Amino acid sequence: MSRLGGAVENGLHDGLSDMCLLEPLEEDAFIDNLQRRFQGDQIYTYIGSVVISVNPYQSLPLYTHEVIFQYRSRNIYELPPHIYAITDDAYRSMRDRNLDQCVIISGESGAGKTEASKVIMQFVAAVSGKGANIDRVKEQLLQSNPVLEGLYIHGVIKNKNFNDFLFTAFGNAKTTRNDNSSRFGKYMDIEFDYKGDPVGGVITNYLLEKSRVIWQSKGERNFHIFYQLLSGADTSFLKSLKLLRNPESYAFLRHGGCSHIESVDDKHNFTVIKNAMKVIGFKENELSLVFQLVACVLKLGNIHFQHISNFDGTDGCKLINEEEVDEVCDLLGCVSSDLIDALRHRSVRTNTETVQMDLSATEATYARDALCKAIYSRLFSWLVARINDSIRVKSRGKRKSMGVLDIYGFEIFDTNSFEQFIINFCNEKLQQLFIELTLREEQEEYIAEGVQWINVDYFNNAVICDLIEKNNQGILAMLDEECLRPGDTTDQTFLQKLNSLCCTHQHFESRGCRKTQSDRTLPLDAFRLIHYAGAVTYKVTGFLDKNNDLLFRDLSYAMFSCSHPLLQLIFPEGNPQRSSLKRPATAGSQFKVSVNDLMRNLKTKCPNYIRCIKPNDYKRPGLFVKEIVLHQVRYLGLMENVRVRRAGYAFRQIYEQFLYRYKMLCSDTWPLWHGTAKEGVARLFAKLGVHDQDCAFGVTKIFIRNPRTLFCMEDMRKL
Ligand code: ATP
Ligand code: MG
Repeated sequence: MSRLGGAVENGLHDGLSDMCLLEPLEEDAFIDNLQRRFQGDQIYTYIGSVVISVNPYQSLPLYTHEVIFQYRSRNIYELPPHIYAITDDAYRSMRDRNLDQCVIISGESGAGKTEASKVIMQFVAAVSGKGANIDRVKEQLLQSNPVLEGLYIHGVIKNKNFNDFLFTAFGNAKTTRNDNSSRFGKYMDIEFDYKGDPVGGVITNYLLEKSRVIWQSKGERNFHIFYQLLSGADTSFLKSLKLLRNPESYAFLRHGGCSHIESVDDKHNFTVIKNAMKVIGFKENELSLVFQLVACVLKLGNIHFQHISNFDGTDGCKLINEEEVDEVCDLLGCVSSDLIDALRHRSVRTNTETVQMDLSATEATYARDALCKAIYSRLFSWLVARINDSIRVKSRGKRKSMGVLDIYGFEIFDTNSFEQFIINFCNEKLQQLFIELTLREEQEEYIAEGVQWINVDYFNNAVICDLIEKNNQGILAMLDEECLRPGDTTDQTFLQKLNSLCCTHQHFESRGCRKTQSDRTLPLDAFRLIHYAGAVTYKVTGFLDKNNDLLFRDLSYAMFSCSHPLLQLIFPEGNPQRSSLKRPATAGSQFKVSVNDLMRNLKTKCPNYIRCIKPNDYKRPGLFVKEIVLHQVRYLGLMENVRVRRAGYAFRQIYEQFLYRYKMLCSDTWPLWHGTAKEGVARLFAKLGVHDQDCAFGVTKIFIRNPRTLFCMEDMRKL
């Protein structure tokens, strides 16, 4: 028997630490292994270098200083799986080999993506350089978290010790799935100098769920900041904003019926957020400007319109509570009659004249809601831009970077709409990137190293991405066409268009297609896409409206004409000098552009993956519900991931480094070896009984097929 065969199995009692070791590879065994590890508080498991993370819903001693320093500068297989291990590997590749990195975190709501991104930031902050200036940069990078999404820093930053979850801010809200759910996608590039010290960063935000500003489902809240402001602001500040303390006073905060979250201290969090904003560099007056807009959104939500009939028989409306508008106008610096006019009418411009049309009460309410959504979402984007100003790299010189992407995972709900369509498109693109980067690069490395490689069949989802985004022919293009085409276009005409052009596509189904016309599971007002992660049925209701994302021009003008300096910045199209008849880009095409920019950026980097899984729907520690996990394992494509990984080599390392670590296991190479490192590794393997089929000798690297070989060698080093 070879020495390897006799070595201690790595952590079998706790489950296998790498899914590539599963024999045979079956879904049941995969889930069992996750469960076994989860129950032993081992929430991380590898698929090669991909980390699977199962949300423990409890605080585990996994993120202490000691653990950080244990993982620092160690090889991935030396210690149990951890986000620190891949972050350390990525950080060192970036610093020492000049390879820019990105970490792509995916998973469904509540699976632990944002927590994982904080763990990465914490590790990077702890292991990268020291010094007053660097600490300032780190503090700013970490402080940018609370403003956007709430903050949980594990006490690593100098003079700061936030030991609690601080639910706060502008981009997160309580949903039924997660008390602190990120309602936007976020990509953050951290930039480093040649020594590997952080010098700054850039944040990009994606698609804030702005519909939440005006409406929330039962058991959900609006964005945290509204409640924090109401309970945390001192009385005089609240008075200056013309606000009442009780959230129930505001229509926009009443829908969900839960303005308070047990265990969350909105009042305290307001202080934290204000401090964080100051650290980032917001001036006192800027804070006031920001909160004035937040207040206005709440107050506008309380404005109501009543139907009136005009002389000519058309519908019109009047405002019921004008005093609320007066207060809003005081805050924004505008004349009440101008704002009321803009809320009650709509100007239609032709090439020769402008006609003012009255809005019905329903239309005016719709316009008011659109205005509130626009104010809030533009304020959010402005905040991100403002944060970027303060964390942007000021120094010149060559920089390296590490990006962290925390973005909504694939969504399949009972009813799926435009938002799910866009989110799933983004996930489709990320899957495509995964295929391109992981599989293609792997293949290229084998070729460069002269290693034999068996082609693995995998499903290439490029065909679905094309179906959605192809210029002039994709679903997004057809949606735009319906939005821009004059005449009576509706969600139904959009569906008809899809039916006439997409029915032959193997990933498209609808009742209007011959192949699926009798499929009763498909509603008549929906289409179904067969995504890489599964089939999703999208109801077309609201697609045109949401894609159009129109704000009546009168309201943009009214906002721009306010003396409030922020409004002028965030409603530039309201400037009469810059106004044009050209329509702004639709929501879908804007998203397509930003996703493609993101993909281009990610493609320039070495990818690292964290796949987050939620073990139950009750946010309960210790509970692992197999069906729920299985569902996620399927749509994250984890089984396929293992298959691909197993067809290739799980581990590779430059000969010199490998020999340096393991030469102690072989008397031929220990303590000194005088031949080439490659020959040394060959001697070592001959001694240990590693079979030819388990490894390959590349030009500069040794390739090992099965991680078990490595685990055994690690165990032997410890004997
Ligand atoms: P969303 O898509 O809704 O933003 P998410 O994937 O970002 O969800 P998180 O907010 O990161 O989910 O996690 C949800 C909650 O789960 C956290 O507030 C925390 O209570 C718990 N949690 C997640 N990861 C961990 C962890 N590693 N240790 C302890 N608790 C965790
Ligand atoms: Mg999140």
